[in-house]
Amino acid sequence: MTPASDDLRFGVAGVPPSCRENSSLQAIDFLASLGLDALELEFVHGFKMSQEMAGQIKIKASQSRIKLSAHAPYFINLNSEDQGQRMRSQELLLNSLRLAAAAGASDLVFHAGYYGRKSPEEAYRQIKDSLKDILSINRLERIPARLRIETMGKRQQFGSLDEVLSLCRELDDLYPCLDFAHLYAREGKINSYRDFCQVLKKVGKKLGQTALKNAHIHISGVMFNQWGEIRHINIEESGFHDEEWLQAIIEAGVKGTIIDESPSLEADALRLKNLCFNLKEKGTRAELSRTRHDFLDTE
Ligand SMILES: [Zn+2]
Repeated sequence: MTPASDDLRFGVAGVPPSCRENSSLQAIDFLASLGLDALELEFVHGFKMSQEMAGQIKIKASQSRIKLSAHAPYFINLNSEDQGQRMRSQELLLNSLRLAAAAGASDLVFHAGYYGRKSPEEAYRQIKDSLKDILSINRLERIPARLRIETMGKRQQFGSLDEVLSLCRELDDLYPCLDFAHLYAREGKINSYRDFCQVLKKVGKKLGQTALKNAHIHISGVMFNQWGEIRHINIEESGFHDEEWLQAIIEAGVKGTIIDESPSLEADALRLKNLCFNLKEKGTRAELSRTRHDFLDTE
């Protein structure tokens, strides 16, 4: 088993397929037994978790040292044409934050919405206004969970890297969830060591190094066409360059949580965790031999 890394935690979104029971409590035990470090609780199809269950999950996760985050419902649309729908989305997002915090999740990830008939600029303004309200209530209630807006993979969805970073820069207490499968699928471009480094550099430049030292990242293989993401697939079955990606993550000094969303969940998460460990080992060895060379050179 690969030892836990202080820098990067690896985990999955939702209950893994090979877990004995379809329950978050079981999933926490199961992930800990595999040597994984994180679980993203899925509120994506609504709230099926009682307050009492949330309390139990919080205790279990802290005993098992599993870092928790949560994902808000998919049907949130802060840019809906319909005002009622926008208000309902705000309420859903706030309730997700409250439930996430009750379950001990430190972060809540959400999809902001769709452009619909609005221009990207109009959508940006609308979503920013909606988020301002949510963030001010969040501050008032002092909910101990961070709100994280996700980079999205379909071109009709709000959430390009630039949109996400600009919003996080403009609004206090809003943080990004960097989904690299989505970043790749959106334009079919970001899939090399150089591309990944550029993304991470941009994050650091726009939001400061703290954004890289406290990152929340989603990853999976992805199928896409000219309109962006079609669906998630396992990393090995996709053309995603995971080794180059991890190398960039390591070299940029990223710390935080990496959540795998491939269909195989725990298998891919373990694969990435092992790969990360091996790359770090290799890096340390290379550094050691470099130091030795330098030393020999000066003799
Ligand atoms: Zn998501």
